[in-house]
Amino acid sequence: MSLKTHFDFPTCKTAYFSAEIGLSDDIPTFSGGLGVLAGDHVKAAADQELPFCAVTLLYKQGYFVQNLLADGTQVENYPVFEYEQELTQLPVRVKLPLEEEVVHVAAWLVIVEGVSGGKVPVIYLDTDLPENSPTARKITRRLYAGGKPCRIMQEAVLGFGGMRMLEKLGAAGIKTYHMNEGHTAFLTLELLRKYHDLDEVKKRCIFTTHTPIAAGHDVFEEQEVQRILGSLLSNGSAFEDGRLNMTRLALKSSRAANGVSRLHSQVSSAMFPEHKIGYITNGVHHLTWTSEATQALFDEFLSGWRTDPDQLLEADAIPIADLMAAHNHNKSQMLATINAKYGEEFEVDKLTICFARRAASYKRAGLLLSDLDRLSSICAGRVQVLFAGKAHPLDDAGKAIIKSIVSAADKLRGKVAVAYLEGYNMRLGNLLTSGADIWLNNPERPKEASGTSGMKAALNGALNLSVSDGWWAEGGQHGTNGWTIDSLEGHYEQDADNLYTLLENDVIPTYCNNSSKWGQMMKASIRTAAGFTSHRMVKEYSDKYYAR
Ligand SMILES: *Cc1c(COP(=O)(O)O)cnc(C)c1O
Repeated sequence: MSLKTHFDFPTCKTAYFSAEIGLSDDIPTFSGGLGVLAGDHVKAAADQELPFCAVTLLYKQGYFVQNLLADGTQVENYPVFEYEQELTQLPVRVKLPLEEEVVHVAAWLVIVEGVSGGKVPVIYLDTDLPENSPTARKITRRLYAGGKPCRIMQEAVLGFGGMRMLEKLGAAGIKTYHMNEGHTAFLTLELLRKYHDLDEVKKRCIFTTHTPIAAGHDVFEEQEVQRILGSLLSNGSAFEDGRLNMTRLALKSSRAANGVSRLHSQVSSAMFPEHKIGYITNGVHHLTWTSEATQALFDEFLSGWRTDPDQLLEADAIPIADLMAAHNHNKSQMLATINAKYGEEFEVDKLTICFARRAASYKRAGLLLSDLDRLSSICAGRVQVLFAGKAHPLDDAGKAIIKSIVSAADKLRGKVAVAYLEGYNMRLGNLLTSGADIWLNNPERPKEASGTSGMKAALNGALNLSVSDGWWAEGGQHGTNGWTIDSLEGHYEQDADNLYTLLENDVIPTYCNNSSKWGQMMKASIRTAAGFTSHRMVKEYSDKYYAR
């Protein structure tokens, strides 16, 4: 077959492995924050013309498409996306012995082009091939689905299969393997098979950990791993107490490890005290996460911001009237789209609070709705609220959160308009982060390792109203670029009270009575966003760890 797109793999010096990479909704092989962050990392590497490539899996059915019934019940659909239109299959195969079967692995390619013409290839590994057994064909079918054996196989295809694929493609110049989250750590065992020496492996690997939540770290039973990987394991050094912890494997096989914010590095260091865990705070891709109107505004007043997003520091140069006009355009577009779909009446002149994130208990989506009478008395006639976010298909508590918000929305009808929008994806994320007045974030501190949606909101001039967790513990300046909700671990009601008080005394009065202060705060928010771009993040990784 002829290649529509050729890439010169021997030039690559850094290989970035991630179980999910979210470049756009047209390639929906991501579930949320981790994948979108990985996609933004790849885009910034392309912008900076780094000798870089990325490896992930091709989930033809993606994660899932979320629909909501009228009562908020989540329905999951698994359409096969049009991967043949989006990706180019490469004429190469590698083999992997998994559970007494030789699994064939194919590769699909997309080349991400940067703002100055840099090119970064992303390889999607695929086991859905006629030469594989029905079980093996399903390995890469869906993201985060199936039981532990399926997870082990997926991670084996990613780690071992990805390394073999790179070799097959001629990527012989790779100096650094960047493991994005523990799912990728089997790559270190493939390196160990090659070098037989942990120090040689460590020289070549760096690791980024993404969650302070214990359940977010893969732990597999030794017996199960032995059964599935068998001869791929050169020795038993990966196991501790009959288990394989993928985060520990990555940590002990890397020369450097990082969390995704300052606070997260402290929490991670306490979780894994025998390892040094620094941090490079996450960032978002400025060209992906600005709306058309925001981009036009920046083109006019922040020349050069496309290639050098540090120009956002000059946001004071934007006249407030132009900033407001762009914001109102973003907000109108968002509300028109939502009103058309939901038949609701969200109004442009109302303070619009948005909360979009995975429906997981620790994110506390319901905090704002914990006292509906108080909410009505503070907000009626002035405020409206939009929620979005998926619950993992097996997370019943997360699904219950969505239903409880839909039920609260019914009770508030006629007082405060509230909607839960289905199908949170990058497109909806773009609409919400650019159209929001207030971006709300109230997790149980310190469980939000970084959070990135608030950075997207800041880029477009929205104001963050957030607990001092993740990135906001670094970026937040109370009363200047947004507001910080006081929060104490385990004090749900007190936190809710703090949130209501801030809305009543600061946020709503500023919005309603002091538009010039609001405009100044929007500019401060954009200036803050300059520090939280993937441009800055990738530059830090590249300066510290990537070979040139
Ligand atoms: C940015 C983004 C996320 C991650 O946002 P958080 O603030 O980390 O929750 C998740 N899903 C989508 C679709 C996004 O665009």
